[in-house]
Amino acid sequence: MTPSERSERAAATRIGITVDELRAHRAAGEKHCPSCREWLSLRRFNCNAGRYDGVAWRCRSCDRATKRSATPADKQRGAYKGAA
Ligand SMILES: [Zn+2]
Repeated sequence: MTPSERSERAAATRIGITVDELRAHRAAGEKHCPSCREWLSLRRFNCNAGRYDGVAWRCRSCDRATKRSATPADKQRGAYKGAA
């Protein structure tokens, strides 16, 4: 098994689907948002050049929801790290 196959399997297991299902979603240009647990088009994710896949780990609406709920104290502690 190659390293990329291993990481594919780990990702599928984490989400609770098979590798085949994971590949089908990716082939359709979708990414899983672990925050709302939905498969969404990559367009629904913010860009994040620092990430391996170039997009934020969660979708825009989850990002926005966190921004709204983060308190000034959270921001000061660095608990909240928003997409640039
Ligand atoms: Zn989401």
